[in-house]
Amino acid sequence: MPTFENVEVSATVSVDFEVYCGTCGAGLCGESDTRHSRNRGYLQVTVNACPNCMDAKDEEIKDLTYRIEELENELSKYE
Ligand SMILES: [Zn+2]
Repeated sequence: MPTFENVEVSATVSVDFEVYCGTCGAGLCGESDTRHSRNRGYLQVTVNACPNCMDAKDEEIKDLTYRIEELENELSKYE
């Protein structure tokens, strides 16, 4: 049988993948998007900040803000 050697073949595929928060483990597929880089065409993933972790940080900030107010009140007694 005759043979063509070194035939170049190109193909495109879709790749499904999952995204999880490395800090709390929450699924972030709904917070993620894909794109190709403008200049080099590299595959890129954009991921919004994890909503669970942001909520936890907001709670931490609230607690620290309250603690600052407590300390400011404490300091004002010595003025
Ligand atoms: Zn998280």
